[in-house]
Amino acid sequence: MPKKLIIGNWKMNLIREESKLLSSSILNILGDNYDKCEVVLIPPYTSIETVYNCIKDSNTGIGAQDVSSELFGAFTGEISVSMLKDLGCEWVIIGHSERRHIIGETYEDIRKKTNTALEGGLNVILCVGETEEQRDQDIQISVINKQLESALSGVNKNYLSNIVIAYEPVWAIGTGKNAEPEDIIVIHSEIKKILTGLFGNDGNNIRILYGGSVTPDNIVSIISNEFVDGALVGGASLKSDSFTKIIMLAGV
Ligand code: PEP
Repeated sequence: MPKKLIIGNWKMNLIREESKLLSSSILNILGDNYDKCEVVLIPPYTSIETVYNCIKDSNTGIGAQDVSSELFGAFTGEISVSMLKDLGCEWVIIGHSERRHIIGETYEDIRKKTNTALEGGLNVILCVGETEEQRDQDIQISVINKQLESALSGVNKNYLSNIVIAYEPVWAIGTGKNAEPEDIIVIHSEIKKILTGLFGNDGNNIRILYGGSVTPDNIVSIISNEFVDGALVGGASLKSDSFTKIIMLAGV
């Protein structure tokens, strides 16, 4: 089986000193040459340089939690693709549910960001997933279909290997409730169908991660099958012991 991809999203947590301690502790536990899983850390913007300096000689990657859809100019508060690359980022999360539902990002914002990031040379972690209300209405697949179709419209097939989809049911994020492994498999295979519908056979090369209350206790049941290529981890990525446990269990 190919290596699983484990991504830690630190959200709006940790100042630089804390970020340095966490990233060096993760590397100490894993060892610089750890290679049973692909690991990526996503600190807040303000800690990217600090974390990059800790991980730059290791196999661990680094990314950002968002990016501007614009390349440069009068967009106060925004951060561009080239600024992220200048800091050593290779990855960016786009369309996280907290940005869709709290910040109010639209389908069009997410489509523009996805295209700008891919064309600028970043790997995109595109988050999709239904709310609890949408799950109760049993419309998960049509919701995810719309999120994928709109975000990926205009994306050139050459970039498909730079895209990872994270299926993150909104009701599972930070709640301690995770989707059942059988349900995750069903949704991931539906996502695969949507991706091959959009891109033909090449859509099969896009990796699909699960995210939503992943912990050391549930990681094995969630990702030990061919439909789940890895995990996007929030809360449990903020402690080196729980995050490295998740990584090591995923890498077995
Ligand atoms: C996330 O932020 O993407 C996430 C999955 O968070 P948590 O693991 O805390 O549910």
